[in-house]
Amino acid sequence: MASMLSLVDVLPKHERVDIGTCDECNGTGGTGDNGQQIKCEVCQGSGRKRVDVFGISGEDIGRILVRYPTAFTQMVASAGKPVALEPGLMGAMLAASQRKPDDPDTSLLGDEKIEKRGRSFGVGAQMKILKAMGRCTFPDGIGPFLEDLVLTSSSAKEAMEVIVRIASKERSMTSPPPPKPSEPPATQASGN
Ligand SMILES: [Zn+2]
Repeated sequence: MASMLSLVDVLPKHERVDIGTCDECNGTGGTGDNGQQIKCEVCQGSGRKRVDVFGISGEDIGRILVRYPTAFTQMVASAGKPVALEPGLMGAMLAASQRKPDDPDTSLLGDEKIEKRGRSFGVGAQMKILKAMGRCTFPDGIGPFLEDLVLTSSSAKEAMEVIVRIASKERSMTSPPPPKPSEPPATQASGN
């Protein structure tokens, strides 16, 4: 019998992203005091600012769409110039990529403090996080979704809608999906 991993055993996919010099120690990794190095607590002595970035869940995509119905349009429009993204939406996206340290299944989307911090990041850091988020959201190679948006802006919206549909279907597994009367019957295959 093959042993299988259960969801309990796997952490949601994430990446550690370097978004610049540690502000606390100015990149020195600590403070020297009489020749004694005191390790910077913020960066653990690395001198770098790093964040763990997780993929965005279908549920969070749905929540973002409720707040920003034009989220996809904005992402498509901003693909070439990230600053065009509405700051509030950017903050929400970045917060959705963060998880509670003690509960990696719960994102920080909706946490005002975190969203505000995300908005205040430099564009370079924001793009780094969004791209890592894309890689974690589509680990099997759909590709960083922002790059996808650039390449296939027309189909990106459809792709995201499929994800939202799947996510909402998973939430209502008990009820069968409604029939689609508008859909024409499948072409009949000839018996032999
Ligand atoms: Zn530091």
